Amino acid sequence: MEYTNLYINGAWVEGADKVRFDVTNPATEEVLTSVASAEITDADAALDAAEAAMALWSAQTPRHRSEVLRKAWELMTARLPEFAHLITLENGKGRADAMGEATYAAEFFRWFAEEAVRADGMITHAPASGARIIVQHKPAGIGVLITPWNYPAAMGTRKIAPALAAGCAVIIKPASETPLTMLALMPLLEEAGVPKGLVNVLPSRRTGALVDHMLHDPRVRVVSFTGSTAVGRKLLKSAADRVLKPAMELGGNAPLIVFEDADLDVAVEGAMLAKMRNLGEACTAANRIYVHADVAEAFTSKFSAAMGALKMGDGTDPSVDVGPLVNADTRDKVAAFVNDAVAKGAKVELGGTAPNGIGYFYPPTVLSNVPETADCVADEIFGPVAAIQTFTDQDDVIRRANDTEYGLVAYVFSQDMKRAMQVCERLDYGMVGLNRGLVSDPAAPFGGTKQSGLGREGGHEGMLEFMETQYISASW
Ligand code: NAP
Repeated sequence: MEYTNLYINGAWVEGADKVRFDVTNPATEEVLTSVASAEITDADAALDAAEAAMALWSAQTPRHRSEVLRKAWELMTARLPEFAHLITLENGKGRADAMGEATYAAEFFRWFAEEAVRADGMITHAPASGARIIVQHKPAGIGVLITPWNYPAAMGTRKIAPALAAGCAVIIKPASETPLTMLALMPLLEEAGVPKGLVNVLPSRRTGALVDHMLHDPRVRVVSFTGSTAVGRKLLKSAADRVLKPAMELGGNAPLIVFEDADLDVAVEGAMLAKMRNLGEACTAANRIYVHADVAEAFTSKFSAAMGALKMGDGTDPSVDVGPLVNADTRDKVAAFVNDAVAKGAKVELGGTAPNGIGYFYPPTVLSNVPETADCVADEIFGPVAAIQTFTDQDDVIRRANDTEYGLVAYVFSQDMKRAMQVCERLDYGMVGLNRGLVSDPAAPFGGTKQSGLGREGGHEGMLEFMETQYISASW
């Protein structure tokens, strides 16, 4: 592993206290390497670097920023297998998932290269005074970016690319389980023409204190976080002290509804994608699967067959579909959800027992008859476990789907488009997959309602998270 130190002002440094922490391969439980852990003085150095770099970068033309981002896309696209391999090593996910993530991650550079030149404003007449109303968008300031372990590349590029497109500098704090991919991206950004100090990476085991310190520095104006709702709440409280601009991509508890008129093959394919992409370790993962009673048996049998055909093993083996979960805690939490549901009356259709031996593996599992009282109905499973319930009434299933503090994404399968659109509009979710098990797209505004977050990433909205709107009232 070549890049294991802090990346500050374009240089690789060991950190003020020279403390390091281990990064483990979840398939083998072996230590891959150790990574430098940032302290407060390192954060101050990164802030100084970001301040200096942003002064120059924000003065560059949008076209220049666009071309640097475009180059980053080209370079990353040429090295997808290398990034995918690193993602698999530190996160565990299988080859196909890792390649999918690397491709998705690179696409944010291309998309925001295209958006960098489209920070459109507006000019109009004030209705009463006749003065001109001029509206423009300006870079908001330095962004502190905090990312989770489930997408070590994409959750970073989804924030870095729009920030750079907007003209901002950033400091990124990757998850401690998976800091290597983000560090490995930095030489590529340098090669693309990103100036030193514009993007800084600070892995740290003193996460809370480090982030809190940065959020209280007057030069920071944006805090962009992807992770759990519990940590998001803490960051919002911290951000309130200096009234920072927050972008929060938090937890989910996605319902997936299969109506009796759905094309069952499409529904099974969509459910496989919505459940098993990233082994279920995704905020978008279908957490509650509601199937109309008339088709429940047929759906469950086809879906279980598809789940049963997946091969589990070390993700570096290209024939493997399902790698290990990221760590022992995550695996044990998944096992506890299954045991709780079974104790409360759920039936195990497939899987349901963690294998003995090395690696944090949990097999693809299908539970039917899951009672409303099961813990996995209220909480994110974050693993390869499909929890199936049945329904007979449309209003009832919409009520049950909306009965959660989360509102990130829902999935609907029906061939009756009138009914399907009516249902989509009544779902209190930021995103809906209609006859599709995948909604993530760099060109679309990703984000949730309720306690799933604030703000949107991707689409046109993603860049505005790093910009302030300024209005000038003018007469001439
Ligand atoms: P997490 O525990 O919230 O950690 C996410 C990040 O926050 C990590 O970098 C972590 O650093 C950091 N962190 C932890 N405590 C902190 C604190 N007190 N102050 C500042 N930063 C802190 O989440 P996770 O377990 O990595 O990821 C899983 C969660 O992310 C799930 O709930 C999932 O739904 C959500 N997620 C949401 C989206 C979305 O777009 N909505 C996408 C992906 C994942 P350390 O690693 O050093 O602890």
